[in-house]
Amino acid sequence: MFIQAENLSKIYGSGANQVTALHKANLEIASGEFLSIMGPSGSGKSTLLHLLSGLDFPTEGILSYDGQEIYKLRDRELSAFRRRRIGFIFQQFHLMPILTARENILMPLLLDKKQADSAYFDELTRILGIRDRLAHLPHELSGGQQQRVAIARALIAKPDIVFADEPTGNLDSKSGAEVMRMLKDIWQKMGRTLVVITHDYGIAQMAARKVVMKDGILSEGDQKGAKGE
Ligand code: ADP
Ligand code: MG
Repeated sequence: MFIQAENLSKIYGSGANQVTALHKANLEIASGEFLSIMGPSGSGKSTLLHLLSGLDFPTEGILSYDGQEIYKLRDRELSAFRRRRIGFIFQQFHLMPILTARENILMPLLLDKKQADSAYFDELTRILGIRDRLAHLPHELSGGQQQRVAIARALIAKPDIVFADEPTGNLDSKSGAEVMRMLKDIWQKMGRTLVVITHDYGIAQMAARKVVMKDGILSEGDQKGAKGE
């Protein structure tokens, strides 16, 4: 799956309160890439991720997946598209508190009335080290374990691409490093496209390709070697 963003801009508010969160971002993501988006807080990373994943609409610009313009889809088509082809991992985990880990992981399939591929479920939960935690509720799990359940949920429908927004932002450095190692392991074994947002230089360096955000402007490459437009 080939993703192409052209001149994506997002302006929030109006008049004196206007904020240009993203200014004319151009980005192409090829199938199977592991891309990190690094930048300080407020630089527009989440805005970019919301636009790239069809969670929000730009003020201007075009986004296509394999040539299909996403923002032209109807609401229902767009949500189905997101549910089937995109996996999301958030800083706050966003697990359902009354569901067990297993039920949380299987949730995206229920919504689509699909059966789990049990061999795939077993492999995912094994790589993520949560096989003995599946009957527990989220509050019975550590932060790192909750995020690993959320990662399994993001992957269970076999999406083409996974977007992670500061996946280690709520974790101590040890469990954060563990979560990133597992994500990278899954990327290597399963070959899905992975886009990770972070303000952590060390985490950004784990990715094969790095882009940097600063004041709403995206540039390709490392901080030092960043080339402008
Ligand atoms: P990051 O994820 O890099 O911390 P964001 O994309 O969340 O940055 O925010 C970029 C800029 O846009 C910030 O100045 C932020 O305050 C502003 N912003 C983000 N979301 C909104 C919103 N819903 N309404 C108004 N301003 C927003
Ligand atoms: Mg953010």
